[in-house]
Amino acid sequence: MSRDYNVIIIGSGPAGFSCAMQSSKFDQQVLVVESHEEHLGGTWINTGTVPSKSLREAAKTILEFNEQFGDDEAKKPYERFKMADLLQYKQQILEKENQKVKNDLIKNNVDVARGMGRLKDEHTVDVVTHYGTTETYTADYILLCTGSTPSQPETFSIDHDKILDYKSILDLTHIPRRLAVVGSSVNAFEYATIFASLGTRVTLLCERTDYLSFLDEEIKEHLQKSLNKKGITVKDNISVQEVEFNPLLNNTEVKYRANNGDDRLQVLETEHVLYIGSRQPNVHDIGLEDVGVATDEKNFVAVNETFKTNIDSIYAAGDIVGFPRLASASFSQGRLAACNMFGIPTLEVPEQIPYGIYSIPEISNIGLSEQQAKEKGFDVTVGRAYFKNIAKSNMTNHDEGLLKLVFDTNSLKLLGVHILGDEAANLIHLGQSVIAFDGDVRYFIQQVMNYPTLSEAYRIAAFNGVNRVYKTGTKYHSLLKEED
Ligand SMILES: Cc1cc2nc3c(=O)[nH]c(=O)nc-3n(C[C@H](O)[C@H](O)[C@H](O)COP(=O)(O)OP(=O)(O)OC[C@H]3O[C@@H](n4cnc5c(N)ncnc54)[C@H](O)[C@@H]3O)c2cc1C
Repeated sequence: MSRDYNVIIIGSGPAGFSCAMQSSKFDQQVLVVESHEEHLGGTWINTGTVPSKSLREAAKTILEFNEQFGDDEAKKPYERFKMADLLQYKQQILEKENQKVKNDLIKNNVDVARGMGRLKDEHTVDVVTHYGTTETYTADYILLCTGSTPSQPETFSIDHDKILDYKSILDLTHIPRRLAVVGSSVNAFEYATIFASLGTRVTLLCERTDYLSFLDEEIKEHLQKSLNKKGITVKDNISVQEVEFNPLLNNTEVKYRANNGDDRLQVLETEHVLYIGSRQPNVHDIGLEDVGVATDEKNFVAVNETFKTNIDSIYAAGDIVGFPRLASASFSQGRLAACNMFGIPTLEVPEQIPYGIYSIPEISNIGLSEQQAKEKGFDVTVGRAYFKNIAKSNMTNHDEGLLKLVFDTNSLKLLGVHILGDEAANLIHLGQSVIAFDGDVRYFIQQVMNYPTLSEAYRIAAFNGVNRVYKTGTKYHSLLKEED
């Protein structure tokens, strides 16, 4: 039976974009349905990854400038720099990235329909356009990738003036003097350090105690020290009861209670509040129930390892399928969905993927933490390199942090890499390659690496770890022999 397209993709974020590109390379006819009137690229380009990271880069440059050349006693960054300039910088990048997506789709003959996509049956999608008309398209396959939206606070409302969310923070007209960030997620820590770098006095209000629990404990301790150094106050294990602007005092009051049984209501006076909620899948009104697409207990669309739902012609990828809800993973998932639809044998998403926290400084990790490796029964050795001992870090005035290798004492096989420091999210990929190829820490000792670079941290950490094994009695000679 002839259908309009080989695949209809609902959503143009990283999952949809990569599925469209891969499908078009397989010579398939592709339609992308996007509900946003102007932009393609979803949360990735318009409200999440790209804007927050562009803002971060601008704030980091200001921090670097101030630390190297500024007189921070006399003037805070917020007195020297304007939010409008920072946002303008972000806007330029956003527009470039948007244009790139548009061009790539045009170059690859991908059609785009603007409007709300909704499943009509297993092969049919209705698109309700912005003019109120409905267009109907059919395809052999459908990819659902409508992304996710952060939840709203339960005890107060976002007014987008004093009380902001991840979208309205991008419309701020000035750099606030004081900011309370409510949230425990990666993005909460990112925004806290971005504004602290601009001189804002930041308080992080985390409802949880086990925030960022996927981090190696030692890295989390370093993060806490780093936050202290930046003057960021972290109040964890609390419940925010109310947030309200007080016009008489011209400040925003956050009322909260500790979760430890202490019933006293505490009040934090601040200028703005940024709420970062947990992200919920965009499954509302996309026709899942009508067609019988199954979801899990948290409402994420249930898929198998090929990203197929319980309906043979319907796939799903990106935030809508749940963990890890990252642009990085969504790119892979969308591409793999295309490969699976069109019968091109391919690998699954690798078991080990890197995680990046774009705080200032960055944090990144892959593989097992020291604690996890021990729990799994490995005889664990760790090797550390402190950024203060790396020439490049000193040259660039980024001497905060460390790189930690976790490896098996007997085989020297690399089990995990954990970094807090400048360029951590970039640096992690060297460790990722060694883990992917089942390598061991001798790689970092035996290969010649460019100097001076931050990658020197791998060499120093490997020597540090191997020296630790040597001290337990293993001969250095046998340690460094390739065939062992
Ligand atoms: C503040 C913030 C910072 C982030 N930083 C990072 C980071 O540094 N690194 C990282 O890897 N990830 C980051 N993320 C996460 C990342 O943005 C998401 O994981 C990623 O965008 C998810 O991709 P997706 O394709 O599933 O959906 P999205 O990018 O959300 O795209 C979904 C698209 O579907 C459209 N849509 C929704 N419903 C319909 C419908 N019915 N019909 C038609 N179109 C529809 C939406 O308009 C949207 O364009 C961040 C997220 C946030 C909020």
